[in-house]
Amino acid sequence: MKFETIIIGAGLAGVSAAIRLAEQGKDVALISAGRSAMHFNSGSLGLLGFDNNHQPVSSPVEAMESMPDSHPYKRFEAASLTEFADNAADLLRRAGVKTVGNVRENHMRITPLGLCRPAWLTLEQVVTLEALKQLERPHVAIVGIAGFLDFYPRFIAAALEKEGFRCDLLTVDNPDLQRLRKSESEMRAANIARIMEGDALTRFGESVRDVSRDSEAAALILPAVVNFDGDGESLHLRQIVGRDLFYAPTMGVSIPGIAMHTRLMRHFLSLGGRLFNGHRVISAEFNDDSLVAVYTDKLDDDALRADNFIFAGGSFFSRGLVATPDEVIEPIFNLDTLAPSDRSKWFDSDLFGVQPVMNSGIAVDHTFRALRSGVPVKNLYAVGASLAGADSLSNDSGAGVALLTAIAVADRIIKLQ
Ligand SMILES: Cc1cc2nc3c(=O)[nH]c(=O)nc-3n(C[C@H](O)[C@H](O)[C@H](O)COP(=O)(O)OP(=O)(O)OC[C@H]3O[C@@H](n4cnc5c(N)ncnc54)[C@H](O)[C@@H]3O)c2cc1C
Repeated sequence: MKFETIIIGAGLAGVSAAIRLAEQGKDVALISAGRSAMHFNSGSLGLLGFDNNHQPVSSPVEAMESMPDSHPYKRFEAASLTEFADNAADLLRRAGVKTVGNVRENHMRITPLGLCRPAWLTLEQVVTLEALKQLERPHVAIVGIAGFLDFYPRFIAAALEKEGFRCDLLTVDNPDLQRLRKSESEMRAANIARIMEGDALTRFGESVRDVSRDSEAAALILPAVVNFDGDGESLHLRQIVGRDLFYAPTMGVSIPGIAMHTRLMRHFLSLGGRLFNGHRVISAEFNDDSLVAVYTDKLDDDALRADNFIFAGGSFFSRGLVATPDEVIEPIFNLDTLAPSDRSKWFDSDLFGVQPVMNSGIAVDHTFRALRSGVPVKNLYAVGASLAGADSLSNDSGAGVALLTAIAVADRIIKLQ
C-alpha cells in the first residue's frame, strides 16, 4: 500500500499532523499502536507552564525566549510561535475540541492533587481558577462520589481555599453508583462514565441536586466522569442541577482526555484519512538516506510505503523511546538520540527535581528531519514527545511541543509536495 504521508503514532502530535495534512487534501495514513498520553490528559494543554528555573510562567511566548537552545521551541522563529500556537488552537476548534485560554497569557488549571498550575488551553467544561473568579461569590461546593477511588474533594478544596474560596464538601450516592461499587475496582472514572447516560444520567443529576440543596455555593464542582464527547450530557446535568457546574480532572484514565482524542480522530477520519488502528510499526526499509517503507505487526510482509513519514511515537511512556541499561534508543528506525552519556547523570537525587533523562529524545535538524548516524533522513520527520529537549514534565510544555511541531512538519511537507 502506498500513501503520500505515513504517520507513526496517533497521540496528540500524530493526529494533529494527520489532520493538518488531510485538511489540505493530502493522502495520509495514521498508524496507532494504542493508548497515548492523551488518555491521561487533565483536560488542559500546556504550552509553557514553567521556565527553566521552575518558576510559573504567565506569558508563555515571552518565556520561550529564555528556554535552552536544545528545546524544540528554539527551532521556531520567536515571532512565528504565536502564529503556530493560534493555528493549533484553531485546529482543535475545527475538530470540535472547544477550549478556553490563549497563547498570550496562561490561566490556572487545578490538578487532581490540588495544585494550581499554569495552562494554555482548557476544555470549556473543565474548572479553571479564572472561571471560578467570575462567580458572583467565592463559594463553591465540591461534590465527590461515594467510594470513587480517583477523586479527592479535600485536595481540590485545599487549592481553592488558598485562593480565598469557601468550599463545601459534599458526597453523592444513589442505587446506580451502589451497583457499580459492588466491585471496588469498578469505581474508576471510565467505568462511571460508561453508565452516565439516559436515565442513569438523569438520576445522577437529581442526586447531585438533592445533596447540594442546602448549600449556598455559587457553583458545583464534580469529578470529570460525565461523557465529554458531546456537549449534551453536561448541559443536561446543568439543567437538572439548576446551577453552574464545572468538572475537575480525576486521577488515572481521564474522560476529558479521551473525549479530546476521540474528537480529533473522528475529525481525521471525516476528512478521509486512513487509520491502521492497533498496529505497531516493528521494522523499516531504508534506501540510502531515505525511508522507503514500514512494516507493522498485523500486516506481516505487506509494506506500507510513502513519500514522507512522520514519527510521532512519543517518549518512554508510549515506548517511542526505550531506556536500556546504558543508553536511550529509538527502537524502530535506530535514529540518533540525545541523552546524558553518563547513566549516573540521568536522575536527580531529589525525586521531585528535574530528571535529566526526561530531556532525552530523537536528534533532528532545523526542519525536524530525524538523524541516522549523523545524517538527516530525507523524508522522515520526528515530532512531539519523542523529540530531544522536550521535558514536558518539568516545563508543562508537552501539548504545545506536540501541536506546534506537528503543524510545522505538516506545513513543510505540504510546501515541498
Ligand atoms: C501520563 C501523562 C499525562 C500527561 N498529561 C498532560 C496534560 O494533562 N497536559 C499536557 O499539556 N501534557 C500532558 N502530558 C504531556 C504529553 O506528553 C503531551 O501533552 C502530548 O500529549 C504528547 O503527545 P505525543 O503524540 O507526542 O506522544 P504520545 O501521547 O505518547 O503518543 C504516542 C503514540 O504513539 C504510539 N506509538 C509508539 N510507538 C509506536 C509504533 N512503533 N507503532 C505505532 N504506534 C506507536 C503510542 O502507542 C502512542 O499512542 C502528559 C504526559 C503523560 C505521559
